[in-house]
Amino acid sequence: MNKRILIIEDDKDIVEALRYNLEKERGFSVLPAYSGDEGLNLAFQVKPNLIILDIGLPGLNGYEVCRMLRREAETRDIPVLILTARVSESDKVLGLELGADDYITKPFGIRELIARVRNAIRRRESEHDAVEIFDDGRLHIHFGDYTIRFNGQEPKLTFKEFHLLKLLVQNAGRVLSRDKILDSVWGYNYYGESRTVDVHIRRIRKKLGPGVDDYLDTVIGVGYRFKAAKVGKEASFAAQA
Ligand code: CA
Repeated sequence: MNKRILIIEDDKDIVEALRYNLEKERGFSVLPAYSGDEGLNLAFQVKPNLIILDIGLPGLNGYEVCRMLRREAETRDIPVLILTARVSESDKVLGLELGADDYITKPFGIRELIARVRNAIRRRESEHDAVEIFDDGRLHIHFGDYTIRFNGQEPKLTFKEFHLLKLLVQNAGRVLSRDKILDSVWGYNYYGESRTVDVHIRRIRKKLGPGVDDYLDTVIGVGYRFKAAKVGKEASFAAQA
């Protein structure tokens, strides 16, 4: 079955070029939207397999669209690829913080864009079969619902913090390098810097508070590891049916 790609972009020439090239590839069908509001409505109606999202849009801008997509359970798992002329570091960071999967700046090569579309879809599909719940009686994480309970608190993690934690939990006991984490959570090696990972780990530690070191290890010069703490009942991993 074709993958449905929603393109939210007000530049009709870009939309047509993307549509032509994606549909020529086979396996893709393209839906265009020319404003943020129209795109958001379509996203909820058709649940596309991926969204290509411009930032400078009439109505809601791309950041606002991305934020709303991530807030709703129905659209939160749709991969979003941001496409924009804005190139400053803070613009990129903002897009990724809001939960975009990838970032492409204009002008872009069509081959590269298609490769990134495929990667983003594949990455999201492989996450679907993964562990959904971690629970050892003290730390409870439900990855499907994006909820955590720890020491009687319910810390609120951002989308990226959650994905980082999920990756570590799924690889419990193994040390993951910053590059591996960047690649899995952010999706590409060359944009991200390793300090992005450090910053997110620091925020997760702060949000979970005292006791988090029973679970999160920093391996100096290498990366990070999730370890199941020796308290409470046996840790359980459950994949939801
Ligand atoms: Ca635009």
